[in-house]
This record gives sequence, C-alpha cells and structure tokens, in this order.
Amino acid sequence: MPEADEQYLGQVDIAIVGGGMVGAALGCACAERGLRIAIIDGQPPQRVWPAGQVDLRVSALSRASQRLLERLGAWPRMVELGVSPYREMRVWDAVGRAEIHFDSADLGEPDLGHIVENRVIRLALWERLEAAAAADPERIQLLSPAAPSVLEVSDEQQAQVRLADQRSLSAELLVGADGRASFVREALGIGLETADYAQCAIVANIEVAHWHRETAWQRFLPTGPLAFLPLTDGRCSIVWSADEARAEQLLALDDAGFIAELEVAFDQRLGPILSTGPRAAFPLSRQHARDYVRPHAALIGDAAHGIHPLAGQGLNLGFLDVAALIDAIDHARAQGRALGSLRILRRYERARRGENAAMLGAMDLFKRVFGNRNPALVGVRTLGLAAAEHLPGIKPLFIRQALGLSANLPTLARAGGPRG
Ligand SMILES: Cc1cc2nc3c(=O)[nH]c(=O)nc-3n(C[C@H](O)[C@H](O)[C@H](O)COP(=O)(O)OP(=O)(O)OC[C@H]3O[C@@H](n4cnc5c(N)ncnc54)[C@H](O)[C@@H]3O)c2cc1C
Repeated sequence: MPEADEQYLGQVDIAIVGGGMVGAALGCACAERGLRIAIIDGQPPQRVWPAGQVDLRVSALSRASQRLLERLGAWPRMVELGVSPYREMRVWDAVGRAEIHFDSADLGEPDLGHIVENRVIRLALWERLEAAAAADPERIQLLSPAAPSVLEVSDEQQAQVRLADQRSLSAELLVGADGRASFVREALGIGLETADYAQCAIVANIEVAHWHRETAWQRFLPTGPLAFLPLTDGRCSIVWSADEARAEQLLALDDAGFIAELEVAFDQRLGPILSTGPRAAFPLSRQHARDYVRPHAALIGDAAHGIHPLAGQGLNLGFLDVAALIDAIDHARAQGRALGSLRILRRYERARRGENAAMLGAMDLFKRVFGNRNPALVGVRTLGLAAAEHLPGIKPLFIRQALGLSANLPTLARAGGPRG
C-alpha cells in the first residue's frame, strides 16, 4: 500500500523500468495493445543535435529488428532521421589471411541490415510513446526523469514500485529494461553469470579516402576484432575491441598517432584515413542473468544479457526479447490469464534464455578462436573461412543468420506478421 507521504500514481498492467531502446520498444507494443503502462527512465531521450553530426553510439540492426520497428511504427521516423543500409560484409583474418564475403544480392535481399544511431532509434520510439500518452494520458504514463528507489515483488501481490521522488505505483507485471547494471535485477535478487573479457571497445567516426561501398568490414586481429561500419555521409563508424593495455595505449595517442595505428590495423582497405572524430571506450564483459523471470517480474535486453559487440547482436537480441515477451502477453490475454503469472512468464524465458545463451557462447568462441596466434588454430580457421567462402549452401545460412532470420522468430519479428 502507498505510504502517507507518497503520491500514488495508480495501478498499471505493466511498469517498465528503463525506457532505453529495448524498454521503449516494449512500451510501444504494450501501448498498441490497449494495456495500461508506466515507463520509468532516469534520462529523457536526446531530441536535437547539430545537423550532420553522427553520434558515437550506433547499432547494426538486423532484418528481424527492422520488422519489429516497422510494426511498432517507429521505422519511417528513423528513416527520416537517418539509417545506413549495408549490402555486403567482408570479414578477414589478420594472421591467416583467409577472407569471407557476404552479398545480400546472393539471397535476393536488398541489404544485410542497417547502421543506425542509438539516439535515433530511441527518439523514434519515444515519439510513438508520447503520441500514445497524449491520446490517452490515463493509460500511458511516461515518467522521466524518474528512478525507482524500492521495488517489492511477491507471489501473492502485484509489484509495488516506489520512485525516488516519493511517487509510487503498482503493476501486474514489472519489467526490468534498465541495462547492464540493472537495479531491477538486483532488487529481484537475480544472480549473474559473468566473465570479464579484459578488453575495451573503442568507438569513433572516421573519414576514409575511398567510399565504403555500403559494406560492413571486419578484421580479426590477435588483440581483438576491428569493424568499420558504413554511415550515410560516407564516413565509417569503427568499433575496435582491444585488450585493455592496447586500448589504453590507443586512447592515449593523439589523432595522428591513432590514425597511423588504425591504418595498419585495418590494412588500409579503404585507402588512407583522412580524419577521426572523438573517441570513446566501453569495457567489455559477458554477463547473463541466471533467471529472466520471477512472479510478476521479467528482465529484457541488457538487463538480462550483455554480449561482446563483435557481431553487433546485443540490441538485436533485446528486440527479440521484446517480441517474445509480447507473444507471452498475447497468450495470457487470449487465455484470460494474469500477465504476471509465473507460468506465463516462463513461456518468455523458455523462448529466449537458451537462444541468448547460445549467442553469448558463440561470441566467446569467436573471440577465443580469432584472438589466438597458435599456428594449428590459425590453420583451422583459415580452412574454416575458406570452406565457408567456397562450399555451396554455407554462405546463405550465414546471411540468414546475419539478417536475424532464424527458424523460431517471435511473431513481431517475423515476415508478414500482424502490426503492433
Ligand atoms: C561498442 C558497442 C557497440 C555495439 N554495437 C551493437 C550493434 O551493432 N548491434 C547491436 O544489436 N547491439 C550493439 N551493442 C549492444 C547495444 O548497445 C545494447 O545491447 C543496447 O544498448 C541495450 O539496450 P537496452 O535498452 O537493453 O539497455 P540500455 O541501452 O543500457 O538502456 C537502459 C535504459 O535504462 C535507463 N536506466 C538504467 N538504470 C535506471 C534506473 N535505475 N532508473 C531509471 N532508468 C534507468 C537508462 O537511462 C537507459 O535509458 C553495442 C554495444 C557496445 C558497447
């Protein structure tokens, strides 16, 4: 029950803590279903930025993510704000010299995905939420800036959420979409499997001499992978994962020194590097929540799993979590069951935890296999890449994987599914 000095905001079907890209996507899908929702986030989205400036944080979005964003009505606004398609992908090994090339045309697809600024994705989703809240303010509450201070979740009762600013609400289902350092996960007492990669990802926007050919480039160096992702203005967004000592050294260099190192690391595949923007670095670790659900509570996105960015999958997995949780919610409503029932929420957990664990494991394996100079292993990966390049039938499988088109996609991520 609310305490005397609290402002009680009422009871909602779903309270989402964290309105980042994943939480906001879930909010949009719930809003379209007529559910009563509250979204709580410490930071409102960035609304304006200087013309022509590209943010340091970008994501490679799969086709499955694109479909979800189209169904939520956010995609057209994202296109207006700027999305960069990539039609080909080239991956090569710095030690073994083996190379593999993927072309969307081989599968009759227009592209393999899009590179989009994170702030563009988040803003497009928030604008949808704001429109829904303006149309029905009783039903959709956007609480930002706001943060939870106390969460109470039990079998018997609905979730109780107290905010730091003395407001409170109750919810049939509380969703933690509050990122890697999730407050919700901690409050629920859900443990975390973690492994420190002892690497940092350095990001920057780079001007190269030659056109990037709408291609995503990735070179595996023994110290970590380096990706060049194509931007619409002809520049590339780089993600350079490097062992901690190497990353510190790279960050300490002036621009000319950094460019010289980058040209060597990238093999000058796009000619000389003409300039670099500011750099930022993110420490890399793998983390996986031991459980995704409790009675009346669920974790999605980075709150549930944190993955190495080498294959650009973290956000794509988060969007699939959203689609799978929506499948579970739709099922509950069709059956007249409570949204917070553990049996319902376990459907979501079963759909996602194993798949996410497999992807986390695959990224570990890639990192270990490609971060190794052992001649036997170099030989094996050279053979493996050559086989993948030349044997019929293998590349289409990889391309489908890159597009995020696995066999068991949840409804919102499938081709031709319903809107919303
Ligand atoms: C260098 C790098 C490159 C990457 N590239 C890709 C890529 O190409 N493709 C891809 O799919 N993924 C990529 N990722 C992963 C991707 O960025 C994450 O998976 C994604 O940001 C997760 O989104 P989220 O909404 O779950 O969490 P977040 O983006 O962390 O959002 C969490 C939200 O919760 C809010 N919040 C947190 N705590 C609280 C609190 N206590 N109270 C209120 N609000 C709170 C925050 O303000 C934020 O809005 C990359 C990651 C890195 C580091």
